[in-house]
Amino acid sequence: MQRDSALARLRAGSETFDLLVVGGGASGLGAAVDAAARGHRVALIEQGDFAKGTSSRSTKLVHGGVRYLGQGNVALVKSALRERGLLLRNAPHLAYSTAFVIPNYSWWGGPYYAFGLTLYDMLAGRLSLGSSKWLSRDETVGHLPTVETKGLASGVLYYDGQFDDARLAVNLAQTAVERGAVLVNYCACVGLTKSAGQVNGVLARDGETGAEFAIKARAVINATGVFVDELRRFDDAKSSPMVTVSQGVHLVLPKEFLPGTSALMIPKTADGRVLFAIPWHDKLVVGTTDTPNVAASLEPRALPAEVEFILDHARQYLTRDPSESDVLSVFAGLRPLVKRGAGGNTAALSRDHTIAISHSRLITLTGGKWTTYRKMAEDVIDQAERVAGLSHKPSPTAALAIHGAGGALPSTKALQFYGSDAASISTLMAGDPALAAPIHASLAITPAEVLWHARQEMARTVEDVLARRTRSLVLDAQASIEAAPAVAALLARELNRDAAWTAQQVRSFTDLARGWLLRAPKGPATPARSPAVAQVA
Ligand SMILES: Cc1cc2nc3c(=O)[nH]c(=O)nc-3n(C[C@H](O)[C@H](O)[C@H](O)COP(=O)(O)OP(=O)(O)OC[C@H]3O[C@@H](n4cnc5c(N)ncnc54)[C@H](O)[C@@H]3O)c2cc1C
Repeated sequence: MQRDSALARLRAGSETFDLLVVGGGASGLGAAVDAAARGHRVALIEQGDFAKGTSSRSTKLVHGGVRYLGQGNVALVKSALRERGLLLRNAPHLAYSTAFVIPNYSWWGGPYYAFGLTLYDMLAGRLSLGSSKWLSRDETVGHLPTVETKGLASGVLYYDGQFDDARLAVNLAQTAVERGAVLVNYCACVGLTKSAGQVNGVLARDGETGAEFAIKARAVINATGVFVDELRRFDDAKSSPMVTVSQGVHLVLPKEFLPGTSALMIPKTADGRVLFAIPWHDKLVVGTTDTPNVAASLEPRALPAEVEFILDHARQYLTRDPSESDVLSVFAGLRPLVKRGAGGNTAALSRDHTIAISHSRLITLTGGKWTTYRKMAEDVIDQAERVAGLSHKPSPTAALAIHGAGGALPSTKALQFYGSDAASISTLMAGDPALAAPIHASLAITPAEVLWHARQEMARTVEDVLARRTRSLVLDAQASIEAAPAVAALLARELNRDAAWTAQQVRSFTDLARGWLLRAPKGPATPARSPAVAQVA
């Protein structure tokens, strides 16, 4: 996946693409894969890095959504469970089954949740990941060794999927490119072009040089997440907002807070939501929250109340009480929720997706969730074929292997998430042992991977490497700050950048990473600018 050649092709302006996708998150990348796999000529531009927005900040679940059953949305759950099964099949290097346990502190909890989860299993049909079952008190502690035992009556075990969201985004980008799509990151849509009142392309700006150019397309798909209304206003300055934005925060703790491989599911928090504590990359991810009506932003910040809410619940359910100083990283993501009239309770709004087509034929795709990205893409490309006047071709993505799938999983655990690419990274390491030495004692990241990210995965910045090509920033923000100078030096060599660029990269990454810490960072020396958590609005 090469940025320079892809950008040159877009800038040349000589082609009219069948479809142009704006936004490189789950929705846009899924759409690009689907369109390219059908044989359409498709381009995609992303203003930041792939998955820079919400798509790198999820709970990392591939799930039907147990709680939507409680809302009576059986069709949504059934469809998502099918998608869960397909993703585990098509990207086995990134998505896998995990045991989840609900601890019960009342006599009725066991039968109640066991009944609901049996229905959940049944809805998954042949794609079920295993049967749920009631657990005795001792079996519950066997799965969750540090669960609070005071008053514990029993537990319920069920299976759901987990994945690496940003790695999936990168692999989807590669899958699209392999099918002929043209993808460029750090390239923003800054306007729409029209002919006779109909959208016929976009005005794009290269984020690295500032150069602006037009890209022609028969139809444009707006997949910009919480920013969809901005693009809709390029189309029609008077269009009324379509999405409302809610924020969800996660804390990352050392794995000792919940050893083992099972995840803890808390079915009802103080505000009636579910909360998870999930083992992920040898750490524990705990979340999430639902704070309505926040402003759209590419780098949202956790509110102190959200941090406290998560810590409070973790303290109730775990024997060892986590405090702010235990938190390795805190990240916030924004949900683009399609408006259903007025109302402040976003937890009750639908997570189903919506496709809107404007009078001037701008196609907007929003809502949904990562788990259902493939179905969302299939639906939007069906619509886009009609809008663009393309002949209909059926979507082949239900059985399409995603880049990295295929062959046995790599034996080196640290490289497992690269799937079939792990062999090439190992070859780099074998050619030069210095490339195999970890960059930081607390992070599973080597120089060979950084070279791979720059050469094959379109990584352009230190943040791309530490936040999304590897998940270092999510797993340990302080260690990532310490690793930044080494990563910057490696990238500078690969991308042919000078010392000023290298220093600026370290500064801007450190500044950003401070927002993922709850405590003051330790070196390298950088100016303290952004607060660790936002002030309550
Ligand atoms: C806290 C939280 C937890 C979640 N957990 C889960 C989960 O466990 N499982 C699950 O299935 N789903 C989960 N979701 C939902 C899922 O993450 C989202 O539905 C999905 O990531 C949305 O993807 P998207 O592509 O629509 O938006 P985004 O990922 O935000 O992508 C939109 C992209 O458009 C780009 N963009 C914006 N404007 C422009 C422009 N003018 N030009 C070019 N590019 C532009 C942005 O930079 C961004 O990268 C969660 C969501 C949140 C917030």
